[in-house]
This record gives sequence, structure tokens and C-alpha cells, in this order.
Amino acid sequence: MFRASAINLYLTDKMQLSYWEKESFFTNIDACIIGSGIVGLSTAIELKRLAPASNILVLERGFLPYGASTRNAGFACFGSVTELQDDLTRQSEDEVFSLVETRWKGLLNLRSLLGDEKIGFCLCGGYELFAAKEDFEKAYSSVEQFNALTESIIGKNVYNDASGKIGAFGFKGVEGMIVNNYEAQVNTGKMMKNLLLLAHESGITVLNGTEVDSLNGNEISLGNGIKFSSRKIIITVNGFAKKFLPELDVEPARAQVVVTSEIPELSFEGTFHYEKGYYYFRNVGKRVLFGGGRNLDFEGEKTTDMGQTEKIQQQLEKLLKEIILPGKKYSIEQRWSGIMGVGSTRKPIVKKLNEYLYCAVRMGGMGVAIGSLVGKEAAGTVIREEF
Ligand SMILES: Cc1cc2nc3c(=O)[nH]c(=O)nc-3n(C[C@H](O)[C@H](O)[C@H](O)COP(=O)(O)OP(=O)(O)OC[C@H]3O[C@@H](n4cnc5c(N)ncnc54)[C@H](O)[C@@H]3O)c2cc1C
Repeated sequence: MFRASAINLYLTDKMQLSYWEKESFFTNIDACIIGSGIVGLSTAIELKRLAPASNILVLERGFLPYGASTRNAGFACFGSVTELQDDLTRQSEDEVFSLVETRWKGLLNLRSLLGDEKIGFCLCGGYELFAAKEDFEKAYSSVEQFNALTESIIGKNVYNDASGKIGAFGFKGVEGMIVNNYEAQVNTGKMMKNLLLLAHESGITVLNGTEVDSLNGNEISLGNGIKFSSRKIIITVNGFAKKFLPELDVEPARAQVVVTSEIPELSFEGTFHYEKGYYYFRNVGKRVLFGGGRNLDFEGEKTTDMGQTEKIQQQLEKLLKEIILPGKKYSIEQRWSGIMGVGSTRKPIVKKLNEYLYCAVRMGGMGVAIGSLVGKEAAGTVIREEF
């Protein structure tokens, strides 16, 4: 029998692992990936494909991934006309269209990794809406040039005038519309669930509710006090990267989203961009998912905290009511947010940081398109080091 004072000697607020837990989950790790978003899981899956005998561990702080990958709009997009025009004011034609190519190839990679059925792929077309005729004309003036530049990458006639459909879609205050015939929708939830399933089937261990607190060399400290080491560590936390890599050019950028009730008479299908992409909406069956408005408060949305603000929510509701769903009966059924990782350029950062450490972050608003390919690239970078 222990006396009470002796028992106290054994009490601890740190989690203690059993011998078995330590041995099976935290010993002899070849690569530990921090973050189970699309990039983290794709990195893990590719590492396991390239090195089947390796022991790969993915750590995720949330009970589900809790960043952007399960919380986005599911646009399989590679560039609207005004987005490309805007990019061309800062970058060369080569740079802009090489990013278009990366996004396109990223989507092909995602589709071949999981298959169209498992990502709910729907080639429904992507539309850009213009409230003023002159804005439409300015955008449309680039269509011929952009079609020529995208033909060898994607196919013929990527962009066309679709103003004739405005009435049928039921929009109000829209004076022009350009369609991207190759833009598609994915079902974000289905995609991530199947990616996770593939990781499990590949023999990768994914631990949820496991926040990494700090890194020291190849030692990883978890929020619950557990420490262990891994031969390689790959940081794929995107908008949360500053915690580990304060010097990196990646800032958090929150994006707020709402989804409506079912609208039986909803008359459009596809993905839609409004006001140079600051707003985006799509149908989800007979519902509308609508997000954006970060431009109303860039500073306020530079946060890693999930949540909504009145200013942005009010604007989303106003645009839904006046432009997208005028005269329709609906309610807002859900509101949520996600955190992106953005920086001074739109190129993701995939690099080796030291002997043990790698990162693959800064997906901007393009992670659905490029995430699986970035993961593949990150895995390739690690494998070149041979573990
Ligand atoms: C509202 C919204 C709409 C979007 N719409 C689109 C779209 O339509 N098309 C498109 O291409 N892209 C879109 N994006 C962007 C896209 O979702 C992201 O670029 C992509 O999901 C980033 O993937 P990731 O794996 O790099 O990061 P994330 O998905 O954010 O994954 C990072 C993970 O790291 C975890 N993590 C963070 N810190 C720790 C820690 N200390 N320990 C353990 N785990 C940690 C987080 O919980 C998270 O799960 C959208 C984003 C948002 C927010």
C-alpha cells in the first residue's frame, strides 16, 4: 500500500505514454508531417508510394483538419480573366501562364490520384460576372489572347462570352458574363474524406487532436508534453506556418463562407466569380455556397482565429439577396470560416530548411488545384535526400 504523500509523487499533468504506445506510434519515424490538409496528406501518400517501407506519421491538431482543406468552396479553377489580367500587371506572361499550367496539372493530378467520382468532380463551367458593361468589355478584350495562350496547356476556347445566360441564371445587376469552359466543381468533403482513406489504406498513421507545440532539431514536442524524434519533418500547416517559421513570407488570411437552404427553383449550376474574385459562389445541389469579402477588411482577416464578422456577413447577405438570388426564398443555414496562407507572391513555398526540416506552405486560394501536386513535389524533395 502507498501512503497518500507517496502517491502524489506519481501524479503528473503531462500525458504519459505506455511502453506499447511509445513503441508503436512514436518510435523509428522516418517522416513526420505536421498538418493533415490536402498538402500534408498528399505529401504523406507520395512519400509512402516512393518509399513503401518507410514509417510515415501525420499529426493534426483538429479532430478533423482545421485549416482550409475541409472548409473551402471547392472550385477546381485555374484563373478567371480578371485574375489573369491582374496577375499580368505584376508578372511576366511566362510567369502568369506557367502558374495556370501548374494549377491545371495539379487538378489533373488530383483527379488521377483519387478519381473523379471520389472528389465529386463536375465540369459545370466557371463564370465571371460583371456589374458594369465597361468592366465586362475591358475583361473581354483579353479573351482572344488568353484563349491563344491557354490552348496548348488546356484546350481550345477556354473563355467565351456567356452574357446570354444572365437572364436564365436569374441574376440582377449583372451586365456581362464570361465563361471558363474548363472550370469545374469538386465536393470538398468527399475529396478530403477519400484522401484520408487513401492515406490510411497506404499504411500511413494519422493522429488527430495532436497539436505540435515546438520543434528542436529533429525533436518534436506535442502540446500534451510528449516528445519524440523523426528523421525528417515536413511542415504543411499553411496559414499557421508563422508559429514554426516566423521568418517565412506566409500570413494567415481568413475567408468567411455561408450556405443557404435548398432553393427548389435554383436555376444555375457552376462556379462563379464576382468583383475580381473577391466574392465567389457556386451551387451545391440546390443550395448556394457563397464566400468572400476579405477585401472589406484585409487587416482584420489577417488572423488564425476562425469566426465571422458583422461587416463581411452583412455584405455577403446583401449580395446574395440583391444580385445572386433576387426574389428567391431561402435562409442562411450555415456559416463558417477557413484560414488560408498567403504571401507577397502567389507561388507556394516548397523547400528544405535544414538537415531535418522541410516545408510546403502558402497555397493562397489555389490549394484545391495545386495542393496534391505541391505534396508530390514536397515528397520528392525529401526522397532526394534518401531516408
Ligand atoms: C473559405 C475558403 C475557400 C476556398 N476556396 C478554394 C477554392 O474554391 N479552390 C481552391 O483551389 N482553393 C480554395 N481555398 C484555398 C484552399 O482551401 C487551401 O489553399 C488549401 O486547402 C490549403 O491546404 P493545406 O493543406 O496547405 O492547408 P490546410 O488545409 O490549412 O491544412 C493545414 C493543417 O495544419 C493543421 N495544423 C496547424 N497547426 C498545427 C499544429 N501546430 N500541429 C498540428 N496540426 C496543425 C491545421 O489544423 C490544418 O488542418 C479556399 C480556402 C478557404 C478558407
